[in-house]
Amino acid sequence: MTRAVRCARLVDVVGERVLTDQLIVIEGDRIVSTGPAAGFDGEVVDLGDVTVAPGLIDLHTHLVGVAACGDYAQELKHSAARQAFASIPNARDTLLAGFTTVRDVGTFRAFVDVALRDAIDAGHVLGPRMAVAGAYVTVRGGGGMLTGFAPDVEVPKEFRFGETRSVDDIRERVREIVFHGADLIKLIATGAVLANGTVPGAPELTEAQMRAAVEEASWYGRYVAAHAHGTEGIKRAVRAGVRSIEHACFLDDEAADLMAAHGTYLSADIWWADWIRETGPSQGYDAEQLRKNDETAEAQREGFRKAVRAGVKIGFGTDAGGFPHGLQGRQLATMVEHGLTPIQALKAATLTSAECMGWADRVGSIAPGLYADLVAVPGELDITKFADVAFVMKGGEVVENTLRAAS
Ligand SMILES: [Zn+2]
Repeated sequence: MTRAVRCARLVDVVGERVLTDQLIVIEGDRIVSTGPAAGFDGEVVDLGDVTVAPGLIDLHTHLVGVAACGDYAQELKHSAARQAFASIPNARDTLLAGFTTVRDVGTFRAFVDVALRDAIDAGHVLGPRMAVAGAYVTVRGGGGMLTGFAPDVEVPKEFRFGETRSVDDIRERVREIVFHGADLIKLIATGAVLANGTVPGAPELTEAQMRAAVEEASWYGRYVAAHAHGTEGIKRAVRAGVRSIEHACFLDDEAADLMAAHGTYLSADIWWADWIRETGPSQGYDAEQLRKNDETAEAQREGFRKAVRAGVKIGFGTDAGGFPHGLQGRQLATMVEHGLTPIQALKAATLTSAECMGWADRVGSIAPGLYADLVAVPGELDITKFADVAFVMKGGEVVENTLRAAS
């Protein structure tokens, strides 16, 4: 059935401009055309005085599992089935917040994300389109492992699926993860903040290992996203040819220039620290942890500003799962505080992230042939409103609409 959505304003993320009085014609789950609102006979959903943008994309979520609490032993206390069911509200909250597409970059228990992606695609679960990593590729005891157990405790295989030791072995890990349904490969290039005993800045994979992973993944049409906090780990990953750098807490000018030269995307979760500052004391964080949070956040935001100045491709990744799903739209305003215009922030969370995923032919802009994934906020373009969108359409179906209630 052909129908249309009419809106007072439409954010054209390709042209970086706002168009007025637009009509988006939709057939089935796809966009047929967009243009001035005139000369259409079919059914029209008139959204009125709103600003419409493409469905938002988060490059860095963890939809699977029970909310994070920093205690990795929890992972062993929950069955895979319980984790899968617990991810259902996470997927729904993400979609209702306007994120119609996510790249889900890892789960400690391998391939629960693959099952969630397939359940959403089959219509069993309400959620965003997902590209999933399947498992973390990590060194033993590194940032992608469950750590903190006694040395003689053996963690079950499904939690060690991506454990790698050498250049040859990393190829095998990549291959197996792809064969089990992953859309991309997630490498843990440096230590992680939450993983017990790992050092966030320390490199954990060699450049040769990462290069082998990138090459192996490419044979199957896949690409690599690298978790990297430390400067050395970032540079190794960029030189090895990864598609995106996640977090990038300690990004210096040389690393920013290297990313710009290689066309590497930045997926920096620069809002999350505000959430910890806001809720940390009630969650039991002590003064020392809060001070570290502030320092790391400032370093990461300084790196983000450097990347913007260096012309790095800026994507939108938030690490949702570390904080409640559905709040990630708040990061758009943080990105505006640190160097982007509001339209550039929306472009990061739509077109640029779609390009990073290799999905620009289906999502990320409002153009003929793409999925009819739309969000709307009341009134003029105000980036803070995108933290809580009023209207969400995924594949031509309205999944959220509070516009009438608001007016
Ligand atoms: Zn993460």
